Amino acid sequence: MKKQSSFDTKVVHNKVDQTLVQNSKNTPIYQTTAFTFKDLDHLESYYEGDSPYLYSRERNPNTDELGDSIANLEEAEAGLATSSGMSAILAGILSVAKPGDHIVAAEDLYGGTHKLLTKELQTFGIDVSMVSFSDQRQIRDAINARTKLLYAESISNPFLRVENLTGLVELAREHGIKTMVDNTFATPYLLRPYPLGVNLVVHSATKYIGGHSDVTCGVLAGDKDLIHEATQKVVTLGANLSPFEAWLTQRGAKTLGLRMKQQSHNANSVATALRKNNAVKHVYYPEFVSERGNGAIVTIELDSSIDLDQFFKSLGWIKIAPTLAGVETTVSYPVRTSHRALSEQDREKVGITDYIIRLSIGIEEEEDIINQLNQSIEESLK
Ligand SMILES: *Cc1c(COP(=O)(O)O)cnc(C)c1O
Repeated sequence: MKKQSSFDTKVVHNKVDQTLVQNSKNTPIYQTTAFTFKDLDHLESYYEGDSPYLYSRERNPNTDELGDSIANLEEAEAGLATSSGMSAILAGILSVAKPGDHIVAAEDLYGGTHKLLTKELQTFGIDVSMVSFSDQRQIRDAINARTKLLYAESISNPFLRVENLTGLVELAREHGIKTMVDNTFATPYLLRPYPLGVNLVVHSATKYIGGHSDVTCGVLAGDKDLIHEATQKVVTLGANLSPFEAWLTQRGAKTLGLRMKQQSHNANSVATALRKNNAVKHVYYPEFVSERGNGAIVTIELDSSIDLDQFFKSLGWIKIAPTLAGVETTVSYPVRTSHRALSEQDREKVGITDYIIRLSIGIEEEEDIINQLNQSIEESLK
């Protein structure tokens, strides 16, 4: 008769092995650092490529599921999930550019990306030129023999300039270089850069793809060979996503269509309403992103008749948050948050003044959002 295990052994080895498949309706969370093997043949099968999982930093079913699902939505060959939007951007860039190479990027990028391109890429031996992408001639002039990549955002931050992706792809192909686009503000529900010829599409899934402000995550979708390269970087640099974060993001992504539909609709109504408010000097909202809508970010320039401190105190149920894209309407102040890293000179160059306010419109009832914003403005008139 087999001897009974002692307490210290029993406490780690359960009688029922829950790792066996249980026909769960939803994907389980594979909250495990590694995977086990029943014998040496099984272990060998991993290295021969017949069995996918060994160690979670390298690959995990939850991160795989998320990468595949975003690749599918973006209509791209392959996808990859990473620890943040920033690490996805870095991995994407490093999959294309090597030491000695050069990148041409739009000058009106997300603050963190701006910092990555101007302050960190040099340590990898990569040079960057940032020019106005509204002017193709400036891009053309910036391209040199070492240029490997054009980098842009499909909808820019905070002025919501819609990039001419077809023009960008044509220009890149003419010079035999690749294109990478940050599609965070548009999401694949509104815009899919990959079928237009863009090689890499990146997202801060922290924003609309996750959608519930509870997870920091990045995804990259694009050409198979580039995603393979980017994956190697993520594994070696340790920029992998945890299984639970991947699971949360995947759960959020299931309602991306519903959320974007409602949020874009609300944003359109808010933009229309604020254009009628005399204390709003200018409303930035894209004229056309897609038939499905024009996105859920509205940027406004308040008139100098507004006391800014009072405005931020008078927002009622709308919270001040240094982010965007959640299901709740929030307000952010680019000068103090997303673009704080930029010098005053760089901020001025892209037109970010003290009166620029970015609204991230949520899924609430549109009338409530409009009423609250108009009331906040009224209460802060000097
Ligand atoms: C937030 C954001 C990023 C950075 O993503 P993180 O998930 O915070 O690392 C990159 N690009 C855009 C457009 C963003 O809004």
